[in-house]
Amino acid sequence: MKFATTAIHGAWDRKNSVRAVPINRTVSYNFRDTEHAANLFALKELGHIYTRLNNPTQDVLEARLAKLEGGTGALAISSGTAAVFNSIINVARVGDEIVSSSELYGGTYSQFKDILPQFGITIRYVDPHDISAWKNASNKKTRAFYYETIGNPSLRVPDFEAIRKVANDVHVPVIVDATFTTPYLLNIIEHGADVVIHSLTKWIGGHGTGVGGAVVDAGSFDWTDPKFATFNEPDSGYHGLRYAHDLGDLSPIAFVLRMRLVQLRNLGACLSPDNVWIFLQGLETLALRMDRHSKNAHQVAKFLLTRPEVVWVRYPGLEKDNSNYQTASKYLKRGFGGMIVFGLKGGRETGKKFIESLELFSHVANVGDAKSLAIHSASTTHSQLSEADLLAAGVEQDMVRLSIGIEDIDDIIEDLKKALSSV
Ligand SMILES: *Cc1c(COP(=O)(O)O)cnc(C)c1O
Repeated sequence: MKFATTAIHGAWDRKNSVRAVPINRTVSYNFRDTEHAANLFALKELGHIYTRLNNPTQDVLEARLAKLEGGTGALAISSGTAAVFNSIINVARVGDEIVSSSELYGGTYSQFKDILPQFGITIRYVDPHDISAWKNASNKKTRAFYYETIGNPSLRVPDFEAIRKVANDVHVPVIVDATFTTPYLLNIIEHGADVVIHSLTKWIGGHGTGVGGAVVDAGSFDWTDPKFATFNEPDSGYHGLRYAHDLGDLSPIAFVLRMRLVQLRNLGACLSPDNVWIFLQGLETLALRMDRHSKNAHQVAKFLLTRPEVVWVRYPGLEKDNSNYQTASKYLKRGFGGMIVFGLKGGRETGKKFIESLELFSHVANVGDAKSLAIHSASTTHSQLSEADLLAAGVEQDMVRLSIGIEDIDDIIEDLKKALSSV
């Protein structure tokens, strides 16, 4: 089945008398007998014990996402933020290091800068487009590389395959936040990701109605190197299980299985079955919506370039922005997504006035909604960053961020025209 078909039918029996995937609002599951219960707890058999670990509605979402990404397995979790944190602590412990792109979602930036160091995990930031920097920042303590497919809000696309080569040299997994591309615009596993993260809250949910996250396992990484302590040391929670060695047939899902057995079980960032249903609903129309988001955003980017009030425009599909377009068009074959950033003459003050003059666009903090959205990044999503950090993250003071929705393009342009004229 092709993408749009899998997004609707994947992982659910079309002959099941229950046609739509139901919401299973249950915490627990009947064991057949005491042996069945013992087998489940000992991992001799996989199944359902408690909804903090998994749930039949969630199973469908996970299997569908794994198929759409070309991965071996997936795990749904309470938010994109939880997906990031739990992925990092699945490979890194006190004393370990991560090499990360500096062009990050604001929340990820704060987590890396302020929270992970409290756990003794050091993040070394690199300019993701400087390939030698990845190598130079690596050492014996490095446990993973981390980047976003389209940096937020820089909207630059790194050279994925070049980064993969360096990761092979230093033997670390590549963890990629693919929220801005979704599995529809890009299968990042084909270009070197071992672990794929999504904030389901954005385009996959697609309507701004639920918060959730997911992690997809490419099944590609060999965890047997003893430097990956979390996968090589015996887990006392499962009778000394070593995830890199003892999983047998389940080895290709070692990353997400450990995340479920250790982190969902003991840290508890599970997703509610009701929100799982919202994401299943969103997935059904993802292909259609991404086509429209990309088409609308491309037109808006070209429109902004013609306006005297606008100093610069960044959109991965704009040929004018040459170096970014070269990399973006190498990897993004179906469209360049719904995000645009641009600078307004007059800087911060004009930016604020512009946002307040918009009528169709909503002034909100999320992205990836069917509705068009706008925000001034430096004073909001990235306001906790210093001037130097703002520059490294690609956030200019005059920058306005747009998440282009799927409304009629004429109405979107009309609203922007009015707001630009008013400044
Ligand atoms: C929104 C977002 C996150 C965080 O996801 P939540 O679901 O809001 O916790 C992480 N990465 C990117 C790129 C995002 O856009």
